[in-house]
Amino acid sequence: MLKNLNIKTKITLGFLAVAVFSIGVISYFVYNAAKENLRAQIFDDLVLTANTMEGSLLNFIERGKGRAIDFSSDGYIRDASRDVISKKTTALSSGLNEHLRRNKMSLDKTIYGIMIIDLDGRVIASTLDSEVGGTGLASDANFLSAKKLEKGEASASDIFFSNYFGENKTPSFAIASPLMDKITQERIGVIMNFIKTDELNDILSGRQQIKLGARTSPIQKRKTIETYLVNKEKTMITESRFLQDAILKKTINAEPVKKCVEKQEDFVGIYPGYRGAPVVGASMCLPNGWTLLTEINENEVFEGLEKLKLNILLLALAVSFGVSILGYFLASGISNPIKELALIAKKIGEGDFSQRTVVKSKDEIGRLASSFNEMAEKLKEIDRVKSEFVSLASHQLRTPPSAIKWFTEMLLGEKAGKMDERQKSYLLEIARNNKRMIELINQLLNVSRVELGVFAIESEPTDISEVAEETIKELAPQIAKKELNVVKEYDKNMPLVNTDPALLRITFQNLLSNAAKYVPEKGTIWLAIKKEAGNFLIRVADNGYGIPKNQQSKIFTKLFRADNAVEIDPDGTGLGLYIVQSVVKEMGGAIRFESEENKGSAFYVTLPLKGLKKREGVKGLR
Ligand code: ADP
Repeated sequence: MLKNLNIKTKITLGFLAVAVFSIGVISYFVYNAAKENLRAQIFDDLVLTANTMEGSLLNFIERGKGRAIDFSSDGYIRDASRDVISKKTTALSSGLNEHLRRNKMSLDKTIYGIMIIDLDGRVIASTLDSEVGGTGLASDANFLSAKKLEKGEASASDIFFSNYFGENKTPSFAIASPLMDKITQERIGVIMNFIKTDELNDILSGRQQIKLGARTSPIQKRKTIETYLVNKEKTMITESRFLQDAILKKTINAEPVKKCVEKQEDFVGIYPGYRGAPVVGASMCLPNGWTLLTEINENEVFEGLEKLKLNILLLALAVSFGVSILGYFLASGISNPIKELALIAKKIGEGDFSQRTVVKSKDEIGRLASSFNEMAEKLKEIDRVKSEFVSLASHQLRTPPSAIKWFTEMLLGEKAGKMDERQKSYLLEIARNNKRMIELINQLLNVSRVELGVFAIESEPTDISEVAEETIKELAPQIAKKELNVVKEYDKNMPLVNTDPALLRITFQNLLSNAAKYVPEKGTIWLAIKKEAGNFLIRVADNGYGIPKNQQSKIFTKLFRADNAVEIDPDGTGLGLYIVQSVVKEMGGAIRFESEENKGSAFYVTLPLKGLKKREGVKGLR
């Protein structure tokens, strides 16, 4: 397939292929590097965010613990608690309740309730009086662990739904610290602060940062980023940015949670998020077994890459287009001169040695073109020498047949004695062949004069139809012999034209004699002469053998004869139409034909009515 493409297309396609291939490879690497880079960067960002969040979270819990430890060392609380416990009555609790409400709870907005529980798990004081006496927390894990802590220590619970202090299923957690007897330093109970998860949620969602005066928070900058906490039971314990009511309800089975619960390991990577879409996430495994996760949808992270992809594609298209155009122009620079050379070589091959190429460049093609021109120049010279030789030779060759003609006429006129019929028939044969020889020599002479461009052109007022009539008269014997029908149509308004009657005669002679030659007996020849906008038209047609389609293109070539013509008349020269075409061109006209095998042919010659300019030359044509 490539073989059939021209050089221009091949080079252009080559450039395009190289461009597409290299851009493809470069784009592939650029895209992958960008993706890798982006991935590494987002991993770093998420780990950093998770770390920061972990810090704030631990800080928040530590603050809570500090508060509980602080309360546990309050002298009044310790004394009053000991009194209540030792007297085993809660009647004394009301003062302590009031103290907790007024002097302690007011210190911290996040605390919505404080309880003091004795070692048996009975509430001995509370910021809500009605809680006193309750034993609901006796088996609470946080209470049990706080009971065993040393002075100055505190423990935090898991997140739970609280119904204490008049709350209705409020997500909360509790921080507890042991209460020691002021004198004996023995444990007498536990003080427990109840805290809502609101601040926790504020921290993880970035709201806290804003509340504290920051202008932005990293969490709120992106559409799908969120940070949340999951407990050891793999349940979400802080709010979800996307799911309503997820706290303590939504189970999270994502890889980082498994990693933390099972191996206490942090994690960063891409995995299916709880909302179905893949997420890029980083996790921190907290000391109490909770997992802190920071996640963002994968498609948000790589959104920029889609734009990059589009940009790469547009760039690739633009570069490919540009490179193709460049290739096209470069290829044109190579292919156009070659095309021109090929065309001129064809014309030279057809015998037109006047063709030259215009040498523009100094490169290999330029050198080829100038060598080509030199070659054409030499060929022209060789052709001229050849034509001169033919001209000279034919000129010389004309003398002997003229003598033969004269002497055969003498003999046939019985000027040298009587001859019998056999002798006469032999002499007639000699005369016929001699006539053919003279015609052939004249044709050759004409051809050489045409090719040398040295024949003279006369110009005199000429009656075209008269020239035609004279030619028909010359052909009369042939017309009569074949019983041909000649149909003539001459334009009555035809003016006299300043032209060369001899050249016109050659034209008529050749066209009419061909028509007569290439029709069967009783055939018809049509001859029309018409005026036509600035020109006069000669049409010579016949209903004869016609010219085979596949040979029509060569019909004006020197010495060419169609196969059927050779069979019909072996004596033709194949020079007549070549001479006619050259003559018509010299007279500023044109010749064309239409022909169909076994139907006939029609030759059309158009010549300018404005006439010819006289041209001095060696001799005219015959
Ligand atoms: P010639 O007639 O001597 O062969 P020409 O140059 O006059 O040479 O014609 C060239 C060829 O053109 C002829 O050999 C013939 O094949 C074809 N030709 C010309 N005129 C006619 C015609 N009227 N009918 C058919 N063929 C023709």
